[in-house]
Amino acid sequence: MDKQKLLQEKGLKTTTARVALLDFLEQEGSPLDVVTIVEKLHQQADQATVYRILDILTKKDLVNRLEFGEGKYRYEIQKNHHHHLICTNCGTISDVPGDFLGKFEKEIKDKKGFLVKSHLLEFFGLCRSCQS
Ligand SMILES: [Zn+2]
Ligand SMILES: [Zn+2]
Repeated sequence: MDKQKLLQEKGLKTTTARVALLDFLEQEGSPLDVVTIVEKLHQQADQATVYRILDILTKKDLVNRLEFGEGKYRYEIQKNHHHHLICTNCGTISDVPGDFLGKFEKEIKDKKGFLVKSHLLEFFGLCRSCQS
């Protein structure tokens, strides 16, 4: 996907740092915290700068900010609605599709008259290799 175009569509300036960060998050795929992002980017950009860029990208819905009860945020590139499987032993995080909840949300509307706009749902447990 063309990151420069994405930024322009959101009315943001296309800086090298922003494009690099979006490219990096797309390649990585899974949610990363700021410290890891700064480490892996191998750039002069300090943590405060990366934080600031992530904040802008999050506000513009280009990046998704997640919180898994670790006392820190994780960031991932915005993609189709999904949830996460978080291994509490090795820390591996993987995506699972989230479309199954649409039916449940409709049921909530029908039975409770409540209009669901969004939800948060993550799964914590053991990944395949940590179960043996
Ligand atoms: Zn594991
Ligand atoms: Zn994800």
